[in-house]
Order: sequence, then C-alpha cells, then structure tokens
Amino acid sequence: MEGKLNVQTENIFPVIKKFLYSDHEIFLRELISNAVDATQKLKTLSTRGEFKGELGDLTIDVKLDPKKKTLTVSDRGIGMTADEVEKYINQIAFSGVTDFMEKYKDSHEPLIGHFGLGFYSAFMVSDKVEIFTKSWKDEPAQHWSCEGNPEFTMEEDKKHTDRGTDIVLHIADDCKEFLEEGTVLQLLKKYCRFMPVAIRFGEETVWVDSETDCDKDGKPKRVEKKQPRIINDPDPAWKKSPSSLTDEDYKKFYHELFPMNFEEPLFQIHLNVDYPFNLTGILYFPKVRKTIDPNRNKIQLYCNQVFVTDQVEGVVPDYLMLLHGVLDSPDIPLNVSRSYLQSDGNVKKISQHISKKVADKLEEMSKRVENGERRTENEADASANSPLSTLHSPLEEKWDDIKIFVQYGMLTDEKFCERAMKFYLLKGVDGTYYTLDSYREKIKALQTDKDKTVCYLYASDAEEEHAYIEKVKAKGYDVLLMDSPLESHFINLLEQKLEKSRFVRVDSDTVEKLIPHDDAIPEKLSKEEKEKLQPIIEGEVDKQKFTVQLESLEESDAPMQVTQSEFMRRYREMAQTSGGGMGFYGELPESYNLVVNINHPLISRVLNETDAEKQKELVHQLTDLALLANGLLKGEALSKFLQRSVQMI
Ligand code: ADP
Repeated sequence: MEGKLNVQTENIFPVIKKFLYSDHEIFLRELISNAVDATQKLKTLSTRGEFKGELGDLTIDVKLDPKKKTLTVSDRGIGMTADEVEKYINQIAFSGVTDFMEKYKDSHEPLIGHFGLGFYSAFMVSDKVEIFTKSWKDEPAQHWSCEGNPEFTMEEDKKHTDRGTDIVLHIADDCKEFLEEGTVLQLLKKYCRFMPVAIRFGEETVWVDSETDCDKDGKPKRVEKKQPRIINDPDPAWKKSPSSLTDEDYKKFYHELFPMNFEEPLFQIHLNVDYPFNLTGILYFPKVRKTIDPNRNKIQLYCNQVFVTDQVEGVVPDYLMLLHGVLDSPDIPLNVSRSYLQSDGNVKKISQHISKKVADKLEEMSKRVENGERRTENEADASANSPLSTLHSPLEEKWDDIKIFVQYGMLTDEKFCERAMKFYLLKGVDGTYYTLDSYREKIKALQTDKDKTVCYLYASDAEEEHAYIEKVKAKGYDVLLMDSPLESHFINLLEQKLEKSRFVRVDSDTVEKLIPHDDAIPEKLSKEEKEKLQPIIEGEVDKQKFTVQLESLEESDAPMQVTQSEFMRRYREMAQTSGGGMGFYGELPESYNLVVNINHPLISRVLNETDAEKQKELVHQLTDLALLANGLLKGEALSKFLQRSVQMI
C-alpha cells in the first residue's frame, strides 16, 4: 500500500528539522519512551490475563550499524497491527506533531521539555525511517517506510514473526554523530538512565574470576569479560517506598546521580505525593559553606522516569535550587515555556509542597533526641536551660553546613521564613546553639537597653574581634558568631521580625554605648577642657577616615578605642553582596570613630602637656595603640610606632 500523510502544511519535515535544530538529540528519548510504553502496556495486558503468551526478555535494544548508517530501537512490547499503524502513526502521531509545531513556532522562549513531538522527531536526524512491527494480536507484521516527505509505503512483512517493534533510522549525512557509539551512549545516559524497562546498548568490559586459570595461591585469576551493557537503572530509589531504604541506600543513590560529587550529602527528603498532584523524588542537602554555589543545576526533573531537564528554575523556589536530587512528576506541563511554567497552578502547588516538606524536615530535626528517642517539647526546653545538658538536636550537628541555605530561604520566601523562625539557630562565639526564643530569654535581663530594646551583640570573626569580645564578656554580656556572607541582609530581616531588637557588632561602639543604660558616668573634664582637647587630637589623625568622639567612660577603660558604626558597616556589606540597587552604600569609604575616654588619666596628661612635641608624640602613641588593637596599624605606621615605643621606654 502507498499513501499520503494528512499534511496541512505542504511539507512539514524540513520544518521539523529547522525548528528543533539545537535539540535534535531528543529523538532518542521520544523513541525509547514509545518502546517503554509499548512494553509496559504488554505487561499490563499480561497481568490482566488478556495476553496469555510468554513475555520473554523485554529488554529494549538500541543498535548501531555504521555501514548501513542506521540506528535501530527494538522493543518486545505490544507492537501494532496494520490498522494501528494507520491510526497511530499516519493520523494521530502526525496531527500531534502538527499541533506541536504550531505551538513551537509562536514560542519566543525555549520550551522546557519538548514533549509531545513523539515518533516524528525521528525525522530530525533521518533521511528515511522504517517501522517493522508485529502486534501481540494474531495479525501479520507490517513494514512502514517514509523518506521524510508526505508519501509513505506500508506492506505486510512476512519475514517478521517476533512480537514487537523495530524503528530503523537511516541517519542523515549532517547528523552523523548519532552513528557514533560514544554520542549515543551519552544520550542514553542523559535521557534514559532511570527509564523503567531495561535498555541494552553495545558491550561493556567487566572483571570476573576466571573459570579455568588460577594464580599460584590457587585463587582464580581475574580476567576481562565482555557482556551486553545495560545503560539504565529501571528501579531508582525515588520510586521505592521510603521505609524500604536505609541511609546507606540514599547515599548510594546520591553517588549514582552525581558520580562526580565526592562529598557526602548531609541528609535528604523523600517526596511521595499522589494527591492533588503526583510527585515523587529525593532532595539531598549538600554542605553549603561560605559561598553559594553558582552552578545550581543539580536537580533533575523527570516525567515518569524519563529525563526532562536539569534547569528547574520556575519549578522550585530559588533557594531550593541549592539542593541536589531528582523530582519526578507527570503533572508538570513539559512542552511549555519557562515563564508559563511559573504561573501554572500545579507547578505552584508542587513548589509550595516542596518548600513545606523542607521546613517540616528541618523542624523535626530541631527536636532534641536522646538514645534515638525523641523528647517532648517540654523536656527539650528544660534541657536547653540546663547547663549540664549534653543533648544536641540533629539540626545543631548539621547547622554550620546548612545555615546559609536556611538564611537564603528566609530572605527570599515569606512562608518559609515564618516556619523557620521556630527552628533557626543562633550560635554563640563559644559554640553553643540557641533557638531565637531561647536566646532572647537568655539575654533579656542584662542586654535590654534604656529604651527597652533587646540588644544582640555579635562578632563576624572571633579571632579578629577578640579584644572587643573580651571587653563585652567582662560586662557579663553574651556574643553571637554571625559570619555568613548573607549575614548583613539576614540581620536586617531579624530586626524586622523580632520584636524590639537591635543587632550590634562588638566593635561598633564602646561597651557602654553598645547597650546604653541610664547610669551615665560623671565627666572629669569641663566643657572648656573638652573644647581644648578635641583639636589637639584631631590634628594628629586622618580626618577623612576617623571621627574623633570624646566620651565619658570608666577610668579603667582604654584611653582610646577605634569603633566602626554598625549602620554604615552593615549597609556597605549589604551593597557589596547584593550588587546593584544599593550602589551608594557600596561606594562609601571605610570610616571609623576614634573614641577618646576623657576620664582616663593619660588623656588628662595629653591635655596638660606643655611641650607641644611631647604632646604630639603621646597622642600618636595612644591612637596607634587603639589602631593596633583593631588590626588597623600596618606598614610604615607600624614600624614608626615600634621605633617610637622603644624610644619612649
Ligand atoms: P505519543 O507517544 O505521544 O502518543 P508518538 O507520535 O510518539 O506519540 O506515537 C504515536 C502512537 O504510536 C503511540 O501512542 C503508540 O500507540 C504508537 N507507537 C509508537 N511507537 C510504538 C512502539 N514502539 N510500539 C507500539 N506502538 C507504538
């Protein structure tokens, strides 16, 4: 029989080629998906008792013949009768492809999965396509052939007696790469790695015990052996029930997914929903240390175990892109553009669901455990307050590695933020972890200032800010370590979320002023003396960089200290990490306050010194000491200071 395809556009084949040029490779996914479907349908018929024959080996074969320039996909599935070829290939498949091309033509954006192109995608890479098929029903085999134009031939095929379908592609000259074993293997690994029916392609070499040769100890020698290569894992972990998997199984699967990632994941979430949408998958938490990985394509999207894409923007919230793993859902529309995807109802629900599951998991991990048993909320609280407590929640153990992830989520996702306020952990410079509530309880009494604002003191670097930390601790205050690159943004967020609170870095003011209380210290200098002192000191410092502030501090405090305004520093840091939008702050020069303790005897000495040279020297020495304490005295200034010190001694 000969026939003409039902073509609306005179010749659609060049169009198929042209439109999808960059995505030619998906033809293999489409053909193997069809082979998998045909096989699954046969299995279903068999379990229902409609098909009574032997199923036999259902492995799908992919074969290359470089001489004949063919690539063949063979399955042992249900096959097609003559009527079915007419209906499914000549009519339906063709109208499917016409619809698809219509949609694609108007799309200015890349489509997410190019699903729906189906069988006809074979023409993207072939001059000629042949189908040899024999239905499971007792009907003759068929041979269909088409040379990339609207005419086709179909005839009975007497030679073909085995059930199933062979699709033979005669690869076009400009697509020769699809005749190379390496290219095809790579494509199979990309798209078909977890398809649910075994797929065989080429051979692989394995090492086995020899059956005939032994070494001198009598042990069988290890020898190379060739065997057919199965390219997929038909039963991937995410499709299994979570209760049947151990932590080891999850780790093993992680390395199967990301063979080039050598670090172990911290923990994982196994997703398994079938209503109101269908979603399975496993998301792993990797270590997120100092930087946020710009290479975020570590979540693979599947549709019924068929790989779609690893670009999941729009499917999951931005912060979740830091996770690694797989998502599998037939409910995500795949032949649509990315911007459409974001407004799709199912996608929104799926994305919210994932966010919620992540929050659930972290909240659960924040409960303290003892001997593997979960404690009740009250017990956990009691133990948090007890200094003898050695209990740690699993979240505390992983916290340093996922803190940035949680911060990023809280900064970008309102709902997640609400949830995370309950389990977010603050870390003291001594390494103790606190929930936001328990920390507030701890510091409330001593660290509330005269305006009833609770002051959270923090350090960004325990080493560099050591001197300040010690001073603050001597007052009985507590210091947090806040050292992530997102911290300045995050602190702003906390100040909005926590009732009447203020965060101040330990070096942003003198201890008295970090948390101002009412009891002012009496001043030892009169107004006139202060007016005299100010220019003496200003004359000796770089006024671009330092603002001289005279303050009434304890006599025992240092004569001079260098501080850096919390506000200015934090906004500069925020501008630097957010790039654009806050440019003005990023360009501010670094500026400091030079705080002069007017109650210190050495400052009185400066004031009363009559020898101008000696007075200068003394001021220099005092400012240099203050700079030194802050790590700001460097280079020539430091050498001069050392020389001067020796002379003075
Ligand atoms: P889709 O798979 O989306 O339905 P296709 O164009 O890929 O669209 O295929 C059209 C139809 O042709 C399929 O629905 C199926 O009925 C039939 N078909 C394609 N490939 C095979 C195959 N290997 N074995 C049996 N039937 C097939």
